[in-house]
Amino acid sequence: MITQEEAYKIIEDSVITLGTEYIPFQNSLGRILAENIYSDMDMPPFNKSAVDGYACRKQDLANELEVLEVIPAGVAPSKKVGKNQCSQIMTGAAVPEGADTIIMVEHTKNEHGKIRFIQEKTSANICLIGEDLKLGDLVLKSGTLIKAQQIPVLASVGKTFVQVYRQVKVAVISTGDELVEPHETPKVSQIRNSNAVQLLAQLQQMGITGRYIGIAKDNPESTRNKLEEALDSSDMVLLSGGVSMGEFDFVPEILLEKGIELLFKSIAVQPGRPTVFGKKAKQFFFGLPGNPVSSFVQFELLVKPLLYKLMGFDFKPLALKLPMGVEFNRKKAKRKSYIPIYINELGEVMPVDYNGSAHIHSYVHADGMISINIGETTLQKGQIVDVRQI
Ligand code: AMP
Ligand code: MG
Repeated sequence: MITQEEAYKIIEDSVITLGTEYIPFQNSLGRILAENIYSDMDMPPFNKSAVDGYACRKQDLANELEVLEVIPAGVAPSKKVGKNQCSQIMTGAAVPEGADTIIMVEHTKNEHGKIRFIQEKTSANICLIGEDLKLGDLVLKSGTLIKAQQIPVLASVGKTFVQVYRQVKVAVISTGDELVEPHETPKVSQIRNSNAVQLLAQLQQMGITGRYIGIAKDNPESTRNKLEEALDSSDMVLLSGGVSMGEFDFVPEILLEKGIELLFKSIAVQPGRPTVFGKKAKQFFFGLPGNPVSSFVQFELLVKPLLYKLMGFDFKPLALKLPMGVEFNRKKAKRKSYIPIYINELGEVMPVDYNGSAHIHSYVHADGMISINIGETTLQKGQIVDVRQI
């Protein structure tokens, strides 16, 4: 049994890169940039009015101003503003030559067609050319995860096709004679297969459409067939169940037969001890424990960072540092333990009711997870813990 950190190191050391592709930027949400993006212009590209008002000279603010023209956004000014003159200007329009200040329309009075500034002071209200970005500035680095806020940046620099890492092709298998699919009614001793859809949903949250292979029966032939189908044209196989020490848990045996080298077979983490990781040339394999919480948590801890790494992104979950709202105790301390928690109105960490690794319903009430290290049995009330959001 190795620690979570040792397991992750093994995974990290096995990483390869998958290659890249060019795609329209509108389709790039959730993808990882494989090129640096530079600005192709100054931003703003011209001195731009920040308000609706009158463009004039600061030194003339005490005087009546003659209006030369109206400058809507998108129209170039045609007149230079001189002494005691102004041009009416809209937000986003180019500031005319000669003007150094835009007075807000709310701060003016129109007296017989002439404009008078009626406040004490004003700021310039001009967004200066290049104040946000200069031509050639690096705006997005290679390795950036494209979220909603990156899309307008690509648009503003005219980057309509982007080079991104190709997505990982993932196949999902469930194992177990007791499983029926969600639309079926379980007979005595049967349960619904919730792991396959759970893993597919976790993949979907990362923008990956997994390929569902089906349920492998607890016999070598069925397991072998499903595994062969899954390994065909995929980069990664996620299989749940059949990896513990039970009589029908022969997945590791079949993996070896298929030439998959097993890099670890169990980890000192609760839930998820019998987590198996293997590799065959450029293909990766995870055998996740059948219990739904174990499978969910190990996807978060080990599978997700590897998937992102394969796509060129160094995923570092943002940990919120918050105080425990109650004391937490456990009896055994041989493994690092993950506990589902919610954050109360006071910003304190509260464990949710949790009966163990089969209790996936508990996670419906969880905002995140906290961990308690090997050798530790207590988290004190008020102790600051890292909350890993899910
Ligand atoms: P296993 O890892 O195959 O020994 O399974 C451990 C527990 O998880 C057993 O109670 C199984 O019935 C349950 N289990 C296995 N696979 C699934 C699945 N796909 N969906 C829900 N529960 C499962
Ligand atoms: Mg099983």
